[in-house]
Amino acid sequence: MMTKQILAASICLLLTIPAFSFQKKSKNKRSKTVDIEQLLSEMSLEEKVGQMTQITLDVITKGKTTPYGSDLPMQLDPAAVQKVLIDYKVGSILNTPGMALKKEEWYQLVKELQEATQKTPRQIPIVYGIDAIHGVNYTQGATLFPQQIGLAATFNYDLVKELGAISAYETRASSLPWNFSPVLGLGKNPLWPRLYETFGEDTYLGKELGRAMIEGYQGDNIGAKDKVAACMKHYLGYSVPLSGKDRTPAWIPERELRQYFLPQFQAAVDAGVATVMINSGEINGTPVHANKYLLTTVLRDELGFEGVAVTDWADIDYLYTRHKVASSKKEAVRMAIEAGIDMSMVPHHLEFADHLIELVKEGKISEERIDLSVRRILKFKQKLDLFENPTNNPKNYPKFGSTEFAERSKIAAIESFTLLKNKGNILPLAKDKKILITGPGANSMRPLNGGWSYNWQGSDAEKYAEEHHTIKEAFEATKAQITYIPGTTFDGDTGIQQQALDAAKSSDYILLCLGENSYTETPGNFNRLEMPRNQLDFAKALAETGTKIILVLLEGRPLVFSEIEPLVDAVFQGYIPGNYGADALVDLVFGNANPSGRLPYNYPKHPNAIVSYNHKHTESIKIPNYYDADYDQQYEFGDGLSYTTFSYSDLKVTNDKIRMNESVEISVNVTNTGNRKGKESVLLFLKDLYATISPEVRSLKGFKKIELEPGASQTVSFTLGKDELSFVTNDYKWTVEPGDFEVQIGDQTTRFEVIK
Ligand code: BGC
Repeated sequence: MMTKQILAASICLLLTIPAFSFQKKSKNKRSKTVDIEQLLSEMSLEEKVGQMTQITLDVITKGKTTPYGSDLPMQLDPAAVQKVLIDYKVGSILNTPGMALKKEEWYQLVKELQEATQKTPRQIPIVYGIDAIHGVNYTQGATLFPQQIGLAATFNYDLVKELGAISAYETRASSLPWNFSPVLGLGKNPLWPRLYETFGEDTYLGKELGRAMIEGYQGDNIGAKDKVAACMKHYLGYSVPLSGKDRTPAWIPERELRQYFLPQFQAAVDAGVATVMINSGEINGTPVHANKYLLTTVLRDELGFEGVAVTDWADIDYLYTRHKVASSKKEAVRMAIEAGIDMSMVPHHLEFADHLIELVKEGKISEERIDLSVRRILKFKQKLDLFENPTNNPKNYPKFGSTEFAERSKIAAIESFTLLKNKGNILPLAKDKKILITGPGANSMRPLNGGWSYNWQGSDAEKYAEEHHTIKEAFEATKAQITYIPGTTFDGDTGIQQQALDAAKSSDYILLCLGENSYTETPGNFNRLEMPRNQLDFAKALAETGTKIILVLLEGRPLVFSEIEPLVDAVFQGYIPGNYGADALVDLVFGNANPSGRLPYNYPKHPNAIVSYNHKHTESIKIPNYYDADYDQQYEFGDGLSYTTFSYSDLKVTNDKIRMNESVEISVNVTNTGNRKGKESVLLFLKDLYATISPEVRSLKGFKKIELEPGASQTVSFTLGKDELSFVTNDYKWTVEPGDFEVQIGDQTTRFEVIK
């Protein structure tokens, strides 16, 4: 691997944080066995409300940060620390200072904050929350993984769990015990700028991989030195704004809400997830932060969630300023607390605390209601072991940023890359060819890491990920003869297109890297789902040279590129593969690794024809002369090629008739019929042939990833029980109906019947 010089960081936290004269900690050190009820009974209303308040780091630092980062030295503001942590006794801080810190700097920062809490009457530690959504992405030198959509494409439960555990280790190594991850919303609307933060469009896949990630993050004790608390988000229905624009209204009938959006959260609760973050948007006209039915009746009473519910960013204020369902900020506080919020990610001011205190004093919110939330928050801190160990010394984390972790990230990238086209088996390439590497994604770390990388919008990846390879650099480290010319840019500049076209003529292959630069949330909103015009035109011009094109897509959402798809010979969907994505691509292109990723969503062919794979029959059935449904996808959910071939045989069902409360065992034999070792995601689709709620054409109900040597076979088994066979009826009950079911695995199908 080529090593590059790492730029000396311009910040030095250790030197710039002013020394506070805090009390000695040891005297006041609370024991792990702190009696929460006793503590609660000693606390004043002000102290309790402080625990329910979460403030962003900017408020207590000097200088300014922007969404695109900050070059200012990180420096705490003693007066602001005094006001926030000591006067207001705020219980939680979140976020990055707009730049990535070293783990030692995080440690020092959190230590200073924890020491400040020692000046409060009851020395309750703060809990620091962070978005470590693809590794601890705001810590320098951390192991960054593919974004969640790429992990979905691996269809690999064990791998996702393992990455969750690595991420937890490195997050704790940064003294950050609370991770605002995973996203459990359905990635169904490709216009939405956060699609890449999801596990794709399928409920079952999201439910399983969400659980895997939570198990990895939390293990069975969130207080362990290498574990963190997970935060399932964004409850509920955030991912499908009708307009596609972030934080705009969603319209989801309750039956659909329960069938498609809720199971992931139920599974997370069952797996013991510690916290939940609420959806900033509204569903069916009610902002979720003010929806007592969803936040209390469903979340607490039905799902059985006992952890901490935190708002999303400024969402209590937004009930007043954006949604206009509250006529003042204070009324907004009342509504959200009444609905079921425990902690407000305020995050910029202290009015939330003032308002809440007033509301209690005016009798508009009871102190019992406050106690309910504060008890949850204190227990959460206790479970995290913060009373005893409020920080984690980075010296105790020797594996942070290790080669071992890097290898796992690279494996994840390899398993995420999804080979969607391989005309005439053009891939893998021989190692000594002349390759033109071109396109806006070819020599940048930003599209490899996406948003939430080093800063919110991922705009500083070139600086912080400098020691990692761009695609151009990774290929230059091989025996191939590489020419690199960007050709065009993400901003639409085509200034050096001609040079690329000239180079294409004398190359054996073109590796064309198209897609998107980094973004997230509102800055990622857009108005057209097609790939930008300059990229399409560039691809067309390259195709005219006659040199074969291998297209690599680096994108957070499926950009429509149907106009150039027939012109390219191979297509790799790379999603946002992380810091080892380029190295993974080299292995895949030259056949050192065999692709095994599968698409976690339908890839649209037309910008206005967005249909899920598990659509209704009326969306794809054709009845000659009458109903000519036009289900025309570029690629479908589950698509993904390999350099070897797998054949499926012997699909068996243990019982061709079962009762409604029984389960059935399914098995299938899978053989590697090619001449390379390969991994295969065995996907089980189920069809309920007729049902009172119109059934889906098929839906995923099982997946297992296996690896086979050439010629080897393996029997893969699944169990289908009530969870898999039932659907939500109009009275909102999960119901199994008698009737015929068809199982499809690979090209094999079989049927069984459910009887009363
Ligand atoms: C995002 C959340 C994130 C939070 C804290 C919000 O804008 O919606 O997903 O956890 O910021 O950074």
